[in-house]
Amino acid sequence: MNIKRLKGFRDILPAEASAVRRIESVCAEVFARYGFSEIRLPLLEETLLFNRSIGEATDIVEKEMYTFTDAGDNTVTLRPEGTASAVRAFVENGFAKSAPKARWYYCGPMFRRERPQKGRFRQFHQIGAECFGFKEPAADGEMLALLWDLAGALFIRERVSLEINSLGCREDRAAYIDELKKFLMGKTGELCENCKTRIEKNPLRVIDCKNEKCKEATAAAPSILDWLCGECSDHFSAVRRILDGEAIPYSVNPRMVRGLDYYNRTTFELLTGELGSQNAVAAGGRYDGLVETLGGPAVPALGFAMGVERLTLMLGEGFGGDCGQPVYCVFRGEEGAKAAFSFRRKLILDGIGAGMDFEDRSFKAQMRSADSSGARLVAIFGESEVAEGKVSVKNLSDGSQSTLGADEAFEMISNFYKSA
Ligand SMILES: [Zn+2]
Ligand SMILES: [Zn+2]
Repeated sequence: MNIKRLKGFRDILPAEASAVRRIESVCAEVFARYGFSEIRLPLLEETLLFNRSIGEATDIVEKEMYTFTDAGDNTVTLRPEGTASAVRAFVENGFAKSAPKARWYYCGPMFRRERPQKGRFRQFHQIGAECFGFKEPAADGEMLALLWDLAGALFIRERVSLEINSLGCREDRAAYIDELKKFLMGKTGELCENCKTRIEKNPLRVIDCKNEKCKEATAAAPSILDWLCGECSDHFSAVRRILDGEAIPYSVNPRMVRGLDYYNRTTFELLTGELGSQNAVAAGGRYDGLVETLGGPAVPALGFAMGVERLTLMLGEGFGGDCGQPVYCVFRGEEGAKAAFSFRRKLILDGIGAGMDFEDRSFKAQMRSADSSGARLVAIFGESEVAEGKVSVKNLSDGSQSTLGADEAFEMISNFYKSA
């Protein structure tokens, strides 16, 4: 029997998995400094949660969700994003009432049944942050600074740009959408098929359609920024002042509207030109009404999510760093095998990963294993070394080699890694 993985799903092999782990741990450290705690949310939720929060007329809810009926006749969905679950958890666990200020982050898989295409998978991974309870522009500023600092910690600042926009409040958006619809009605002939149907259902999406025809047709479309009320306009200015004050570079893109219904006021994206059409590395914004929509009190909130696959593509598998076993022990003969086994375990107990072959084969073959393991030092237990109670230590990067007493060799390797 030859069973294959499902279409659009993939295995994350060890080299990539170690890069992902490093990305997650770098982010976890930055999150912690900003006071964000990790939350682990279920992968499966009631379908209604996503219909209510993301919006019935969005691509995600209309076409992309993994929805099915379970054995108990419940309609359930594999989570397509993290915010809805986070808000549900915030309300359901009583935070909304008892401690309506919280900063959470999460890492994990999301599921969308998209048409398979290069770089898009039906199970993908996100690192996200959500902040509850702050209506102040400083919270938007904090979220943007956090995102920018994550980009710094991952060393990709030079390779990304930050775009921000404001969608205003519900009233601003309604007035703007009326105006936008009027404008789009006069352009129907020039729009892509998808956008023709969007005019009624989700006209905002038309102005961020990637189709060249649509870009041209909407070049003179009205800007949401001209429809902000005084309060929304002040809020947006205050967010911009924070970014300016912190010297965080950004540009304002009034066409960035985000595909989900729950956003209001500040929205933002972190973009790269390196990944073709999949240009958003992270995206998010404010969603002040969502806690209330999902049955909680009126608690303002905002958040973002980063695409882990996109980050991994940018950083490469090498980002995983040194392999877990920077030392490799090679040996000859039964005594050599024993000495190597004990030496290796001593290193491991000292906090230094070390590997070995168990098969007593040629040094050449064992050195090949050492090389492909990614080790930087090799401890050699040949017949002459073992007879004298010594170990030869070879540095694979410069080829240098020295023969030392076993304790001395251990000290040397230990210092080499602890000072590195
Ligand atoms: Zn407003
Ligand atoms: Zn279009």
